[in-house]
Amino acid sequence: MLGLGGMLYYAHQAQRINEAEDKAKHGAKEVAALSSQLREMSERFEKLVLITTALWSLIQEQSGLTEEQLMERIRQIDLQDGRADGKISKPKNIYRCPKCDRTMSTRHGRCLYCGCQNLNAEPFDGVL
Ligand SMILES: [Zn+2]
Repeated sequence: MLGLGGMLYYAHQAQRINEAEDKAKHGAKEVAALSSQLREMSERFEKLVLITTALWSLIQEQSGLTEEQLMERIRQIDLQDGRADGKISKPKNIYRCPKCDRTMSTRHGRCLYCGCQNLNAEPFDGVL
């Protein structure tokens, strides 16, 4: 027969088991969601590789540019941030709103304060 201490210990252990089961279920859901996101990103990446390859083959055909010229341009752009790391990163552009003169982030197409459109926006703003 369990004494009071034994029953309390048993109740405490049962609660800990329930908490651990909840955490495990939550973790499994997170893994499933991340796995699905990874699959989607992989598919998008494969599609981008396909489009980039098709674009390069068209450009090469129409312009006569060579692989060496492409590689040289890749090196130049890679080095724009001072590091040859195979990645492109751009310094954050900060603009001043032409209407209210507050700072505008390049991530938003409009001023967060007055709604004025970001007229200084560049094509890759918000992407890089
Ligand atoms: Zn503004």
